[in-house]
Amino acid sequence: MLATHNAGKLREVQALLAPYGLDVVSAGELGLPEPAETEETFLGNATIKALAATRATGLPALADDSGFSLAALNGAPGVRTADWAMQPDGSRDYARAMARVAELAAPHADRRAWFISVLVLAWPDSHTESFEGRVEGHWTFPPRGDQGFGYDPMFLPEGGARTFGELPPEAKKALSHRARAFALLAAACLPG
Ligand code: IMP
Repeated sequence: MLATHNAGKLREVQALLAPYGLDVVSAGELGLPEPAETEETFLGNATIKALAATRATGLPALADDSGFSLAALNGAPGVRTADWAMQPDGSRDYARAMARVAELAAPHADRRAWFISVLVLAWPDSHTESFEGRVEGHWTFPPRGDQGFGYDPMFLPEGGARTFGELPPEAKKALSHRARAFALLAAACLPG
């Protein structure tokens, strides 16, 4: 099962798992509560989510903790990426979050940015395995494209002219941080 309530992550992980013929059900679909992400690292928070889901269901659980970082902001928003989009009513507003990130970074010449995904696979006996993927690029503003999710429209992968928001899902899947972490997981855990 996939320990997420994020529809964008669910779509991408389902596409990554599809070739392996595995059925995935998400924590959101099962109505599981979202555990608080109290750690200061992607690994710590992915582990919280994966262990909570496997303990609630007795199934192996995969969790992704991920984030967007800008060199000009010393790696922020980073582990707090989702919080930067949080609204007082508990919803997330990514248009506002992207505008805030761009406003803070704009005075700096350094436009490097990157996404990180840490995948944690938790087993019913509570042991865990983790895999990290990263994609480098630059930030751009205003946001471009309506594909993907989250901060995709303001991220230009290295060497590319289109943002993650402008790339079709197959193209993002070929180079994303999540796909890179998943490739490591597949090599370690899935039948080749
Ligand atoms: P998490 O649920 O705590 O892992 O939060 C991840 C945050 O990073 C959310 O705000 C996502 O929108 C953002 N994020 C993670 N991966 C991606 C991606 O592939 N594209 C755009 N935003 C992403």
